[in-house]
Amino acid sequence: MPAGFPDFRLGTVLATSFTGTLSERRGDAVERIPTPRRLIDWLAVNGLAVDSCTSAQLDLARELRESIHAAATAAALQEALPASAVQVINDRSARGRAAAVLTPEGKRQWRLGSTSSVEDALGVIAADAISVIAGERDGRLALCASPTCRAAFFDTSRSRTRKWCDMNTCGNRQKKARFQANQRKKPGSAE
Ligand SMILES: [Zn+2]
Repeated sequence: MPAGFPDFRLGTVLATSFTGTLSERRGDAVERIPTPRRLIDWLAVNGLAVDSCTSAQLDLARELRESIHAAATAAALQEALPASAVQVINDRSARGRAAAVLTPEGKRQWRLGSTSSVEDALGVIAADAISVIAGERDGRLALCASPTCRAAFFDTSRSRTRKWCDMNTCGNRQKKARFQANQRKKPGSAE
């Protein structure tokens, strides 16, 4: 992994992992795909390997990302979906020409076209966002409880009570803050 770039946060849901490439949106935002190369890297770890990416394609990717974020946030709040975001998601979905293929091990993989494959990859991400936002999948769209994050995430826990987009970052930080606040309340306690 090239030095100097922020790591990716990996999730199990493609569309919300993608919106997570911009984190701490309500605080000091961290751009995790600052260059076309980093978008290529992100796509590769998510099973959507492409050979090249131009800065225009990176712009398309970021436009799709922000549209998914806007639509998923509205869906989580049970508000009307923003029309411009829906338009972008639909455009990207319609322009992608990826094919789902079944591996001998019975897994689904995506086969991207040979030209403009960034567009094909974005089509897969847009289609994933559509299935999540349309409520076709087993889970619940929610917003991270961290006030500096508020990322949309897809809660697939059995109880549907997940509060954080990511336990290792937002969840842990909150746990630590709560622990420290408790320590301050009980001066002189053993722990
Ligand atoms: Zn979060």
